[in-house]
Amino acid sequence: MAAEKVRVRFAPSPTGPLHMGGVRTALYNYLFAKQQGGDFILRIEDTDQTRFVPGAEQYIIDSLKWCGIVPDEGQGFGGNYGPYRQSERKEMYRQYAMQLIENGHAYYAFDSAEDLDRVRQMAKDAGSPNWQYNHVTRNSMKNSLTLSSAEVQKRIDAGEPYVIRIKLNRNEEVKFEDIVRGWVSVNTNNMDDKVLFKSDGMPTYHLANIVDDHLMEISHVIRGEEWLPSAPLHVLLYRYLGWEDSMPQFAHLPLLLKPDGNGKLSKRDGDRLGFPVFPLEWHNPESGEVFSGYRENGYFAPAFVNMLAFLGWNPGTEQEIFSLSELVEAFSLKKVNKAGARYDHDKTRWFNQQYLRLLDDETLAELFTSYASEQGQEISVEKALAIASLMKERAYFIKDLWEESQFFFGGVEEYDEKTLRKKWNEEARTHVAKLRSIFSNIEDFTSANTEAAFKSYLSENELGFGKVGPGFRLALTGKGMGPSLFDICAILGKEASLKRLDQALEKLP
Ligand code: GLU
Repeated sequence: MAAEKVRVRFAPSPTGPLHMGGVRTALYNYLFAKQQGGDFILRIEDTDQTRFVPGAEQYIIDSLKWCGIVPDEGQGFGGNYGPYRQSERKEMYRQYAMQLIENGHAYYAFDSAEDLDRVRQMAKDAGSPNWQYNHVTRNSMKNSLTLSSAEVQKRIDAGEPYVIRIKLNRNEEVKFEDIVRGWVSVNTNNMDDKVLFKSDGMPTYHLANIVDDHLMEISHVIRGEEWLPSAPLHVLLYRYLGWEDSMPQFAHLPLLLKPDGNGKLSKRDGDRLGFPVFPLEWHNPESGEVFSGYRENGYFAPAFVNMLAFLGWNPGTEQEIFSLSELVEAFSLKKVNKAGARYDHDKTRWFNQQYLRLLDDETLAELFTSYASEQGQEISVEKALAIASLMKERAYFIKDLWEESQFFFGGVEEYDEKTLRKKWNEEARTHVAKLRSIFSNIEDFTSANTEAAFKSYLSENELGFGKVGPGFRLALTGKGMGPSLFDICAILGKEASLKRLDQALEKLP
């Protein structure tokens, strides 16, 4: 039976930046906790000192904060079950390893790295490349099962390095029910006697993870599928430590796959596939290499989170746009897929576009003004509003608004070559010249007024829009395509619009 209150943890190892698959694991933990009125905890699993990377822990915290999936408790957030960094809990683990030895479920092993290499090589030479320390091989190794207790004591007293290994029974079925995968059953004959406690005085991941989940009263372990093979060992550890009654429920999440479906999307994919695999930009402190992040690429955090939620889960309805609180409401571990989830970058861009469209014009204008200001262009609120609402439909990112609206700032420096070739001729020149003089008589230069004038010019001369529009647009903006000409005129204002038409008449052949 699981503990009553829902308490889940996200337990990354600070071995580098958090990959987007890790963010998804955190997200599913968060959604489940919030839906059940439970707590979401951040625990830093840093027992492997050799893989520690400076800055990684802060990166993890910053990423969760950016996504809005903020822990209730844990490293950097406080709480009553701390410390939340395993390296600071070091002293707690040994007693449990000792308890397992006393109960006959673990043993000391004195085999050196060279000893192990030697037996592995011998096995390989004899045709079995996958040698394991297990219920058969342990009988011919240097451990407290084969050495006398006096000999064991002597070695320990002499300070000889040792590890503590779990002692698995032969031919025992280990079964548990996973929320995502259903019943999982593994025979101990296919498992090895994993190290629980290392010679450096630190627990391994397996022991620390179980002890901490127990002490922190974790009710559900929601983590990536790569940990599924370790779960039977974890179930046995709960049993052997006498904690089976409060063992958490497991839910192993499907892998995130590369866009072509070929294999896991990994940290090493970096920017190689044409998109970021990290939420935030990461500067590798050792190599100086920089990896791009979704945040720096102009993604809105809610769009990124929405996209991630759908990598492995869907609500079973047509709805795709979900705010974080809507996700909390709709999420269900039971609806998480077993099959790996393929990452689709176009879909990610699509989500961002949808979120951009959802912004009200004021907010969009504000984001646009500050982006433009970073690029050295100050824009009035009024102009920003007009441009933002005009260009909104064409943009995926704020930077698109900026890039696509360059023709509003300064003058026209270049004319689109193809349009020039295909649409600019004597006739186009005549229309532009005539419209220039008509427009110069419009007093109130609104989009409605320029449009009316333009249209009556077309109908008086029995012309279609296609005859006049492209040349006029080229003269006004230098481009072959874009939003409404009359909205553009209104934003530019009368003086600037006429000036551009004059310039085109003068410069173009
Ligand atoms: N420290 C493990 C990791 O880095 C945690 C696995 C688990 O959640 O049990 O993914």
